[in-house]
Amino acid sequence: MMSTTRDYYEVLGVNKGAGVDEIKKAYRQLVMKFHPDRVESAQKKEAEEKFKEISEAYAVLSDPKKKQLYDQYGHAGIDSRYSTEDIFKGADFSSIFGGGGGSFSDIFEHIFADSGFDIFGSGSRGQRRQKAGSDLQLRIAITLEEVSTGVEKDISYNRYDACPSCKGTGAESGSGKTTCSTCRGSGAVRSGMGFISFTQECPSCHGAGQIIKNRCKNCSGQGVVRAKKNLKVNIPKGVSTGSVLRLKSEGNYGSGGRGDLYLHIEVLIHSLFSREGDNIRYRVSVGVLKAILGSEIEVPTLYGKVKMKIPAGTQPNTVFRLKNKGIANLHSRRMGDELVEVEIEIPKRLSSQERKILQEWERIKS
Ligand SMILES: [Zn+2]
Ligand SMILES: [Zn+2]
Repeated sequence: MMSTTRDYYEVLGVNKGAGVDEIKKAYRQLVMKFHPDRVESAQKKEAEEKFKEISEAYAVLSDPKKKQLYDQYGHAGIDSRYSTEDIFKGADFSSIFGGGGGSFSDIFEHIFADSGFDIFGSGSRGQRRQKAGSDLQLRIAITLEEVSTGVEKDISYNRYDACPSCKGTGAESGSGKTTCSTCRGSGAVRSGMGFISFTQECPSCHGAGQIIKNRCKNCSGQGVVRAKKNLKVNIPKGVSTGSVLRLKSEGNYGSGGRGDLYLHIEVLIHSLFSREGDNIRYRVSVGVLKAILGSEIEVPTLYGKVKMKIPAGTQPNTVFRLKNKGIANLHSRRMGDELVEVEIEIPKRLSSQERKILQEWERIKS
């Protein structure tokens, strides 16, 4: 167990309340300083220790779960829950060094290759990379009616599947593979980026560690082929434009597993209703006499027509609420309402008889 006993915040030189960005920044600076490749050989051992210490501190403080445990229980909280290996698992070191490639394990494997220090357990060093398939993004449009009830949709899209001829290996059946000479089978090569060096995916074998002798003719050695996929998807009620459904392992095939399919929902604009969160709004015109005298009108809802009373003396832009005629909340399932906004129609022309009656009314009023 290499666990440090120094306070992690102190190790990184940040305050207890430090945010993610600050922690990242501090770590990055310390890496530059204590990278074993950068120091004189006499100080290498010391720098290595230091490097382990700051990396462990960063692995804990950059992970919200581990950070919370540490904040609450200190080292005991981490040590009781995580093995040395687990401390580093899930820690995001990649973003520290930008998009230049070279995962944390690459860096570590490289740095400690000669020190006999093997943080990821024996066997992981030089492990050939299994490539996970990439995620796919798909857009789907649904109606407000479908939002109100939830809907099962048939979707159809193209993705990469394992090549059926070579079963994803990329090699013509019977023909084997040879060890890649560039990386000697490790799948990775060392490359320098300024004073920090990384191990990166081998460009010759793309991390596979092996070169195919005879490429599969069906997939040109890629191991994958484009294929159409049909899928039934249940879209829950209450979704809105911008909602994203994640369909696990329905993305592209990769030797390390399938990527996911992300379904982006778009709710079509409705001809009668506008949506306001879980409520929907409907505007209805009511003749001025009906508004004055009161009336019963028929109003459309997402769940069929309903009759609604317009009380005598209803004012323009009055909003009536039809309880539970809106949309179920995606999370709480609580029903929204339909808001019926009344516009009063004033006639533009009057017949002579109508005019006479209104003039009579005016006389009475004044
Ligand atoms: Zn193939
Ligand atoms: Zn290679």
